Amino acid sequence: MAHAPLRLPVAILGGTFDPVHFGHLRTALEVKQELGIQQVRLLPCAIPPHRGIPSASPGQRLEMLRLAIADESALSIDERELQRPGPSYMVDTLQSLRQELGETPLCLIMGADAFVGLNQWYHWQEIPELAHIVVVHRPGWQLEQIEQEAMCGMVQQRLVREPAALAASSAGKILFHPVTPLAISATAIRETIRAGKSAAYLLPQAVWHYIRQQQLYR
Ligand code: ATP
Repeated sequence: MAHAPLRLPVAILGGTFDPVHFGHLRTALEVKQELGIQQVRLLPCAIPPHRGIPSASPGQRLEMLRLAIADESALSIDERELQRPGPSYMVDTLQSLRQELGETPLCLIMGADAFVGLNQWYHWQEIPELAHIVVVHRPGWQLEQIEQEAMCGMVQQRLVREPAALAASSAGKILFHPVTPLAISATAIRETIRAGKSAAYLLPQAVWHYIRQQQLYR
């Protein structure tokens, strides 16, 4: 049941950011601007539970994030997963954020590719109890099709169409939101660099400079 508006939501975009690129950054900014979010935090994981160990170290991934948002006050970094030992389970992260934020609405931003794998995540059923989920467009994934398929499952009762619904409760809603489609992935960037080619214009210039300086992904 919807309540009176609480506070403007806080949103997180979790990821390995190996490396951070314009697909992450533009998505985070558009979600902030278009959904009435007070703050979007980029949240790098330490040990991803569902995939291999990242190529860059946690410190290097964090530094790339710092460089990427140095001039952008709309975005910030949340380091809690890097400070926690063991696998970076999102449910633990959301519990810790919930303690910090009280009743403030919390949104978990996920690309469509991540959302289709959500039911593989550790204790995934608890995630909508702790946060709203904002599913964003990613080239190669049909948002409408995912939405229709998801309608069969737990999403059906949680689906909302209006961003205002996110501010009306602290967790539990799912919103599908199209963002500018940018067919950029960290995997493709790593492969480009490994092939001896330039990754310029896929990520911020300062991040590309850092990658070359640190000789990453070669
Ligand atoms: P990799 O290729 O190594 O899997 P990635 O580019 O998918 O990396 P992640 O750090 O794994 O980046 O992604 C973090 C989050 O950002 C995920 O929810 C993912 O869906 C989303 N995301 C990544 N790239 C894009 C993009 N180009 N457009 C929209 N969302 C994206």
